[in-house]
Amino acid sequence: MAQRLLPTGSCWCGCGEDTGRGSFFLPGHDKVAESAVILVEYGGVPEFLHKHGYAPGGKNPRQSLAEWRDRGNAAR
Ligand SMILES: [Zn+2]
Repeated sequence: MAQRLLPTGSCWCGCGEDTGRGSFFLPGHDKVAESAVILVEYGGVPEFLHKHGYAPGGKNPRQSLAEWRDRGNAAR
């Protein structure tokens, strides 16, 4: 189980802007942060997927998401 995280009032993308109460990001900034970290840490989305076992012949991202939802989890 992932660690429970709490919003801090500042956008987690690093832009330095304040967020609304209960928000980690300003609108769209979650994808900016996600893309930046995947590029910097993995080199790209294919490398990111491969690192976590989702390359062809491995786990299927879409199937894994469907199974995750079927278990009662929901996107935040
Ligand atoms: Zn931001």
